[in-house]
Amino acid sequence: MRFAFISDIHANLEALEAVLADIDKKGVDEILCLGDVVGYGANPNECAEIVVKRCKSVLLGNHDAAATNLLTTQHFNIHAKIAIEWTAQTLTPSIKSYLAALPVSKTTDLITMAHSTPYEPGMWYYITSLEEAAFNFQFFDTKICLVGHTHIPMIIALDDEDIYVHPEKQISYKEREDRKLLINIGSVGQPRDRNPNSSYGILDTEEKIFSLHRIPYNISKTQAKMKKIKMPDFLVNRLAEGR
Ligand code: ZN
Repeated sequence: MRFAFISDIHANLEALEAVLADIDKKGVDEILCLGDVVGYGANPNECAEIVVKRCKSVLLGNHDAAATNLLTTQHFNIHAKIAIEWTAQTLTPSIKSYLAALPVSKTTDLITMAHSTPYEPGMWYYITSLEEAAFNFQFFDTKICLVGHTHIPMIIALDDEDIYVHPEKQISYKEREDRKLLINIGSVGQPRDRNPNSSYGILDTEEKIFSLHRIPYNISKTQAKMKKIKMPDFLVNRLAEGR
């Protein structure tokens, strides 16, 4: 089986369409979404409708939770708060109830998925260091755990006792019985690793290879739409800088 994983779309329709076109070109059996479908961008309903149609399973992100009143925005910065208020007013009642019913994590034989962390996924913690990664490795029993949330793609491997950031975009677990992987697939709609191109991942369970992919999209079109609905300049400008 070949799975595509997408996350942190953040209502960016141009980015979502570009990523899905690339996924279709490469060919996968299932697409899975790790949450934050909405928040920041100008097309929350459109993105949610596409995700419903295209994704086999979808998880709840903290912005989805805030936009549907499951989470307060007290820990959000001012820009994110403004975006959530607009999003909450814009979402249709049916999309709102769809998002509000999403689970915070999902586990199969091979993979654990959460928007934030395998440890207490509903608490929206971040994994920003190897120490935090090492802690989280204790909280999944599957070979692979996939997360989003930081918007920074990263493959962290645990080989026997050795934990490290894998330096390449692709990793094999074929001849490594001991290898466990904690992978952040990055963000479709608002990358923050100084590369403005959308990020997503593909897992090939026959070849036993996971790979990260970067896709350009029409950033100025997305920015023009955000300006039109008066999103803060900070949110508009960051897209072009990938931060
Ligand atoms: Zn996010």
